[in-house]
Amino acid sequence: MNIILMGLPGAGKGTQADEIIEKYAIPHISTGDMFRAAIKDGTELGLKAKSYMDQGALVPDEVTIGIVRERLSQADCKEGFLLDGFPRTVPQAEALDNILADLGKSIEHTINIEVPKEDLIARLTGRRICKTCGTSYHLIFNPPQEEGKCDKDGGELYVRADDNPETVTNRLEVNMTQAQPLLDFYKAKGVLTNINGQQDIKVVFEDIEALLKGNRS
Ligand code: AMP
Repeated sequence: MNIILMGLPGAGKGTQADEIIEKYAIPHISTGDMFRAAIKDGTELGLKAKSYMDQGALVPDEVTIGIVRERLSQADCKEGFLLDGFPRTVPQAEALDNILADLGKSIEHTINIEVPKEDLIARLTGRRICKTCGTSYHLIFNPPQEEGKCDKDGGELYVRADDNPETVTNRLEVNMTQAQPLLDFYKAKGVLTNINGQQDIKVVFEDIEALLKGNRS
């Protein structure tokens, strides 16, 4: 099962990725996680990636494509893999096709978890964090018992700087602009499926399972 998982920030991609890799026992290949691990370990790759990541810019294609080629060649990807955060550009998607062709593989499903922008803004701006212990709440989905106060230690809840509506809207727009050519690329190949991400987490996963079992297209 060779899968690409796509979705805007706040769409629930991380949650569904966890479910998919557990159920199908395939490795979760997240380029963002790989770069973060490399930075933590202080490797040469980490040094290369850090300056770009700090600016919120994309790491150059030759670096990113190189690590994906190496990762997909490993034995645990034999029965499948879940790509998350890659490809981010059409040249990366084309490079992925070449890598997979070399390995005698192809992408079977590109799953795009769809949630309207307005809902994503509500999801992302509703986050509240405890000043003292860092526990995260959500005004709608996981509210504290007492408004503005942490359930655990009574600490004051605050809004993270990058969770304000303006920053969130901007982040979403940048992501949408980046994603559209990729969605078009995989649609043209006939492997793209949009999944309704406005449903309950369980129902979203049921839809994904139905797709992977070949019960829906
Ligand atoms: P993510 O965790 O997927 O949001 O990625 C965090 C950061 O890692 C991004 O802002 C980029 O700087 C870098 N990154 C992750 N995946 C890619 C990719 N496919 N191409 C280029 N840069 C990437």
